[in-house]
Amino acid sequence: MSDGTLIPLDAFMADANARYYARGDVFGVHGDFITAPEISQMFGEMVGICLADWRARAGLTEATYVELGPGRGTLACDALRTMAAFGPTPPVAFVETSEALRAQQAAAVPDAVWFDRVDTVPDTGPLLIVANEFFDALPIVQWQQVEGSWHRVMASFDGARWNRVVASASTITPESESHHPPAPGSWADDAKDGAIAEASPASVAVMQTLCARLAAQGGVALIIDYGYVGPALGDTLQAVRGHGYADPFSAPGSVDLTAHVDFAALASVAEAHGLAIHGPVPQGVWLIALGIGARCHALSQQHPQRADALAGQMRRLVDPTEMGTLFKVMAVTRADQPTPAGFV
Ligand code: SAH
Repeated sequence: MSDGTLIPLDAFMADANARYYARGDVFGVHGDFITAPEISQMFGEMVGICLADWRARAGLTEATYVELGPGRGTLACDALRTMAAFGPTPPVAFVETSEALRAQQAAAVPDAVWFDRVDTVPDTGPLLIVANEFFDALPIVQWQQVEGSWHRVMASFDGARWNRVVASASTITPESESHHPPAPGSWADDAKDGAIAEASPASVAVMQTLCARLAAQGGVALIIDYGYVGPALGDTLQAVRGHGYADPFSAPGSVDLTAHVDFAALASVAEAHGLAIHGPVPQGVWLIALGIGARCHALSQQHPQRADALAGQMRRLVDPTEMGTLFKVMAVTRADQPTPAGFV
């Protein structure tokens, strides 16, 4: 990397995360962070129940299970085992760019078929799409308000390390970019100096592809992530390493870079495709509606020595002070297909 290299934040984030996930040792107690399916089998089981119920009510027997960024394959393994109790096991398509994680996913779900990008997944038959903590890993752009105008946030390499910088209007003007900051007269008009606006064009592009597929092929997409219903101002870029927060610019490739998901931005893509949007609802509310309490009770009766641990896992997933409220679940279906369980 040469001195004075200056790249937009989204390019920095895309490159850093590609190198980070290529390592493959990022999840779990000994990794950097723990996701819901790694906390408890009950999470994937509730996803499986939701999909099996939806598939039955939609009158579909042949549908492909598609998961975006399946991590260690734990969610798919738990969901598919649950679906098998209620009907056929669907064919499995995983969208994953990390070779190291593909190897772990193959151990969990040996019959899966892998794709690099969403636009290459099977183009016939209905799709049962799952994305848990996938969209938060996709690159964002940021703009910062400086003396009344929006300036693009960049990453600059000074020869020793990367730093966050704000583009001077003369180096990169928003108008010269394909992505635009909030327009004058829009929702962000009362932004003060220093305010930050975010967008994730990469997430919108993935959502465009998913929605075109759902409109043409039918099916359901379950999007589960931490986020908000925007638009809103604020800096949500964060880096996680060893279960704690780090400077997002300090060690690209060694920390997990994420941003909160704007569910409204994803919903507006679905709306443009004429699809029905369900939620987003808080993860805790959704899991309870699907019966995680009954499942926890049944598992505790089968394994009394694990009852306390199971209760603790459920609490982590549903409690508003843990993952229950920050994490949200949004579903998208074709308007002529059923509403998935947990959204009414
Ligand atoms: N869903 C899993 C893992 C979440 S981490 C869980 O809940 O445990 C993000 C996942 O998305 C990883 O598997 C990562 O390798 C994958 N990923 C990140 N960016 C991607 C991209 N642009 N295309 C495909 N997969 C990507």
